[in-house]
Amino acid sequence: MEYIKNYTDGKFISPISGKYIENINPAIGEIYSYIPDADEQDVALAVAAAKAAFPAWAATSAQVRSAFLLKIASLIDTYSEKLALAESIDNGKPLELAKTMDIGRAAANFHFYGTAILHESSESHFTSPTAINYTLRKPIGVVGCISPWNLPLYLFTWKIAPALAAGNCVVAKPSEITPMTAYLLSEICIEAGLPKGVLNLVHGYGHKVGQAIAENPEIPAISFTGGTATGKKIALAGAPLFKKLSLELGGKNPNIIFSDCNFENAVATSVRSSFTNQGQICLCGSRIFIQKPIYEKFKNEFVRRVKLLKVGDPLQADSDLGATVSKQHKDKVLSYIELAKQEGGTVLTGGKDVKLQGRCENGYFIEPTVIEGLSPYCRTNQEEIFGSVVTLTPFESEEEVIRYANSTPYGLSATIWTENLNTAHHVAHALESGIVWINCWLLRDLRTPFGGVKNSGLGREGGFEALKFFTEEKNICIKL
Ligand code: NDP
Repeated sequence: MEYIKNYTDGKFISPISGKYIENINPAIGEIYSYIPDADEQDVALAVAAAKAAFPAWAATSAQVRSAFLLKIASLIDTYSEKLALAESIDNGKPLELAKTMDIGRAAANFHFYGTAILHESSESHFTSPTAINYTLRKPIGVVGCISPWNLPLYLFTWKIAPALAAGNCVVAKPSEITPMTAYLLSEICIEAGLPKGVLNLVHGYGHKVGQAIAENPEIPAISFTGGTATGKKIALAGAPLFKKLSLELGGKNPNIIFSDCNFENAVATSVRSSFTNQGQICLCGSRIFIQKPIYEKFKNEFVRRVKLLKVGDPLQADSDLGATVSKQHKDKVLSYIELAKQEGGTVLTGGKDVKLQGRCENGYFIEPTVIEGLSPYCRTNQEEIFGSVVTLTPFESEEEVIRYANSTPYGLSATIWTENLNTAHHVAHALESGIVWINCWLLRDLRTPFGGVKNSGLGREGGFEALKFFTEEKNICIKL
């Protein structure tokens, strides 16, 4: 049984408490490794290592930092099979998905910021005729990166790569539920020769390690992705210390299907946007609004295709959905299906857990579930479920669907399906959402700003936005 270690000051070390947490493979429901049950003492060690490493790392040229990041990207590619297998086992997601989505993107994150830093430029303002201002962007120091379990290495590296590229040293915490690829990343950093203390990974529970990062006065900036309730705790801990915060939080994303859509593209992509990664992507469209003239047609075809999805062993190539990440999360998702029934919903397909035979007989599997007949304002349609459950709701007019779409406390992403350019623009502008996809879903360009409004977060990741977040501006004015 493998014991994962913290990665601090360039070395693997055991948690100071000597305690470990069981790490469960959700596809089989069994412990398969142990992770450090670290606490604020381990965070303090990591912060000390990061502080010591900071002056030298911040003084390196962009070319030197770029070379380290590109080396890490290339090693992620080299070990992609091993990383994908680890991600699938740790998270329960289909191995094919881990290969095609998670690990490729983790390498791309390092590659993107390894090259982006070479193109960063500073601003200058000529105050005619008396002065020149120039604005420096300096690394902040020790920054904290905290990430969730749904896209473990993908989201972890999306924070770490820009933080390092900008010249910061990092204390990072992956989700305690899916720590394995972060651990493998620390092996990769050692192989890449990353100077000691530049990146430090502390494993353990959110309320211990995460909270200690949030409260540590020597970490002036935190980039966090996770649930809205946790984001609030981090904001509460960080506010009295005036920490810089980037918060990527929950969502309840609308997927809006107009009658004039390209039907085939809309229905095929909606199956993907509902159930990829067992619906555990913050961008999944969990509320599908369908214009009345095509409601029955869309519903029938959508449900027919959802019934064809195979829930199975994540390691088998033909499994469309794997396991839900944990027993606790499976119970939460099932409880929302029960709530939907109590709220008057009709389950069109799915609705139950799945008992597989053989190796996965004790795994945490749920049928992809489609529900209709609910008010857009009921709890099922207002609260984030973050699982393989979607609802179908008919609508008549643009104004009506905009009202429904904007009715939740969230505002992360939205999808619109229409062939009418005016409808597309009008609705896209009216939606309270940080990201809008028109006739597509999860089509990403890493240069674009990524993030949500309302309870979906604060700030933006992606492109130069992340480099701005991880730097502090200093304006210097010279009188001529
Ligand atoms: P959580 O908020 O439970 O956890 C996220 C991370 O925060 C984990 O590493 C967790 O550790 C840690 N944490 C927990 N408590 C604290 C604390 N008090 N202080 C500091 N850190 C803490 O989210 P989940 O892992 O359950 O992820 C699912 C959520 O993430 C969903 O709401 C989803 O919408 C959101 N998400 C948002 C995205 C976006 O880009 N907006 C992208 C992906 C997911 P531990 O695991 O030990 O609890």
